[in-house]
Amino acid sequence: MLLNQHYLFTPGPTPIPERVKLVMNQPMIGHRSQAFAHLLEEVSTRLMPIFGSKEPVLLLTGSGTSALETAAANIIEEGDHVVVIVTGAFGDRFASICEAFGANVHRLIVQWGKICTPDQLEDFLTKLDVKIKAVFATYCETSTGVLNPIQQLGEVTKRLTDSLFIVDGVSCIGAVPVDMESWHIDILVSGSQKALMLPPGLAFIAVSEVAKKVIHDCQTKRFYLDLNRYLSSYEKEKSTPFTPAVSLIAGALEVCYMIEEEGFNQVIERHQLLKKMIREGLKAIELPLLVSDAQGSPTVTAVKPASGTANMIKKILQDNYSITIAGGQKQLKGEIFRIGHMGYCTPFDILKVLNGLEMALHKLDGRNVFGKAIKAAEEVWSQHV
Ligand SMILES: *Cc1c(COP(=O)(O)O)cnc(C)c1O
Repeated sequence: MLLNQHYLFTPGPTPIPERVKLVMNQPMIGHRSQAFAHLLEEVSTRLMPIFGSKEPVLLLTGSGTSALETAAANIIEEGDHVVVIVTGAFGDRFASICEAFGANVHRLIVQWGKICTPDQLEDFLTKLDVKIKAVFATYCETSTGVLNPIQQLGEVTKRLTDSLFIVDGVSCIGAVPVDMESWHIDILVSGSQKALMLPPGLAFIAVSEVAKKVIHDCQTKRFYLDLNRYLSSYEKEKSTPFTPAVSLIAGALEVCYMIEEEGFNQVIERHQLLKKMIREGLKAIELPLLVSDAQGSPTVTAVKPASGTANMIKKILQDNYSITIAGGQKQLKGEIFRIGHMGYCTPFDILKVLNGLEMALHKLDGRNVFGKAIKAAEEVWSQHV
């Protein structure tokens, strides 16, 4: 069988469009050149609508976690009280990062597979009798595939506290709506290898005017991740304080062009369609979804098959069809598998992975569900166009 084609359906890294790869292969330019200053300004400003930011988006060289750490390092001083909403492994990571910077972390822990509701946050904040410096939340919790109601959580945070609202948007920014000002988001971070269709290695940080002041006054020791350096380099010379991943930034400009050509609203719509197609397909072959339709993310879907079979299905897909999906993390390890459908992903790609799953179930236990998932997904698609 011809298996030199590989199908990547992990919730990061994600496939890279051909035209983005081509642009990343262009001759290197110096990062202190006019050409780079122009490139960086183009990228930072064209990302503004995608981040719902009134300010140019800052770029750091590092994986998504470097963006989370940057958000913490530039805000938290030892002994500060912060709230971290934990709906899964990435919320938990945000909490650990805050602890590493000496914060008193109040974890609002939600059952994995559920969103944090605005009422839960309101309850939690009302019962706290300490002054909170910041509330940290995860927009799409990649480990479970929920999409948290960030707009409402921001509204509650703003109404009940005068703290900052800091959002990890790594696995959905570029595929979902967001508006920092009206949603009361002070810092929004993302990474390159999820919905933004780039290789791993770039971190993105959008900062509100209010957060800028806190960052400026923050006494915590930091160097590479000091946002003040990035802010002033950008303001003064449209540059970065250290050598950035120039090729990835060139790729990021091409990604911005692609999103503009499709239309950002259309990109958001496409992800809604991908979500509906995959969910209806999975239901049609009786693979139980971890998350309800209402709480599910348009970028990643988690499946909880019969006990002990999640990793087997994942392995059959890999070994027989060169389809790579992801397993569960931490407490969901071995319990679920996850399918990423973000960024450079089309309805045909959803049909591919559903097709693979129908075949895999047959290999697993002889189950004949041929065509069922495909049919359900096609019905969704045909109603859409
Ligand atoms: C992928 C991801 C990150 C960052 O992970 P890296 O491996 O450091 O790039 C952070 N938060 C969420 C929600 C993610 O999905």
